[in-house]
Amino acid sequence: MRLVRDKFYIGGQWVAPSGRETIEVHNAGTGEVMGRVPAGGEKDIDAAVGAARSAFESWSQTSAEKRAEYLEKISTALKARADELAKTIAQEVGMPLKMAGRIQAGLPIANFANYGKILKEFSFEQRVGNSLVVREPVGVVGAITPWNYPLHQITLKVAPALAAGCTVVLKPSEVAPFNAFILAEAAESAGLPNGVLNIVTGYGAAAGEALVKHPGVDMISFTGSTRAGKRISELAAHSVKRVALELGGKSASVILEDADLAAAVKGTVNGCYLNSGQTCTALTRMLVPEKLYPEAARIAAEVAKGFNVGDPLAETTRLGPLTSKAQLERVRGYIKKGLDEGAELVAGGAEPPEGVPAGGYYVRPTVFGMVRNDMTIAREEIFGPVLSIIPYRDEEDAIRIANDTVYGLAGAVWSKDEARAQRVARRIRAGQVDVNGGAFNMNAPFGGFKQSGHGREAGVYGLEEFLEYKSLQLKG
Ligand code: NAD
Repeated sequence: MRLVRDKFYIGGQWVAPSGRETIEVHNAGTGEVMGRVPAGGEKDIDAAVGAARSAFESWSQTSAEKRAEYLEKISTALKARADELAKTIAQEVGMPLKMAGRIQAGLPIANFANYGKILKEFSFEQRVGNSLVVREPVGVVGAITPWNYPLHQITLKVAPALAAGCTVVLKPSEVAPFNAFILAEAAESAGLPNGVLNIVTGYGAAAGEALVKHPGVDMISFTGSTRAGKRISELAAHSVKRVALELGGKSASVILEDADLAAAVKGTVNGCYLNSGQTCTALTRMLVPEKLYPEAARIAAEVAKGFNVGDPLAETTRLGPLTSKAQLERVRGYIKKGLDEGAELVAGGAEPPEGVPAGGYYVRPTVFGMVRNDMTIAREEIFGPVLSIIPYRDEEDAIRIANDTVYGLAGAVWSKDEARAQRVARRIRAGQVDVNGGAFNMNAPFGGFKQSGHGREAGVYGLEEFLEYKSLQLKG
């Protein structure tokens, strides 16, 4: 499959780029070039922001019911292409196909429809004494997204921004951009008015920074690395833009001594290896009581071995490749670092796995034991299938270790005593904590504490990110 896209979606038209530079996109499973997209720059971003500004006045005045209708139509149009979306993202990112269908295609389809529903129930005004407090769209939104859950991350910005009455310029990840073009076509077929959604592909340093600096943009909603989030905050400060940041994590799974150990370890390994560990909420640090360490390590090794590594399009694959060559080198580097720093290798390792397609970015599902929280593998976000098991003394020690990180995105707590588990969960400084394997909830707020960012996505909380308060002081 060779995909070639040579135009941007601006003002409801397919527009030729201002320059000739293109970006090659690689198939994670084979390493081959699967296609290319244009690399946009300042001029392209300027045209897209211009289109979004022109569309803002009338889009922001449409009724909530009308906007809900468009969102539902986009969901329907994406659903009609669900298989194509799943296959495209399975190849761009490397997630096994069946799972990509459920998560990478399924969540965006569900979220567009869900924002239609939320919009119908949301109240945009409230009386406070003699004031009428109204909530208005913040304006033109610049959305910048990563590659790991590419269309999901896009949807968590675009759907609520459009629902709020904002218009959007999207700069998707250069690593996994094809799904964004399918979204543009879905918006087109839904009849979304021209300029309400605009898409320019390109590199972060060129197209991304041009969008952040543009005076015609009112807000930047960013998901990606903490490094880029810091740079974006600095750049956005010059024009006092609102900034929402969804960044990295180093989340702890705290297994208390009274937990069902087998279920807790299995849940943690699954939570660590989802999407080959390329998940911002991955449970990468497993905290176990010292005396349960040998048994926990044995179970983790067994669970890890059940993760069959292979081609994302093959039925039997449970762990696909990493997304890029850069990722492969980075993750292997961390595995070597773990060994150098004296962690105990319980499963996997830095050597390439056997029996996988040549050229793909495959890595072994890896577990390190006897990890100390000051080791590099316990401090930095690896973004690969690498679990660190950290023994702790008692509950207080576990909470201290869980919070001893610059991040605060997610976490998990396991205990047979539900009240105790909740009590410990409340003390973890992170945006979402799973209690005894509680299920993912698309309406719950999603976002971070500390260097995992600020602002919340998903559900009604995600809609509120794109609204501004205004109070009208009334005489009567
Ligand atoms: P990245 O920061 O390299 O890139 C993310 C996006 O930002 C891309 O579109 C990129 O082109 C753009 N970008 C990069 N530098 C920029 C700059 N200076 N100005 C403007 N735009 C810029 O991240 P990535 O490698 O694509 O994604 C992996 C990271 O994303 C991980 O750290 C992961 O934890 C994080 N992530 C967080 C969440 C969350 O919700 N918290 C979700 C998914 C991924």
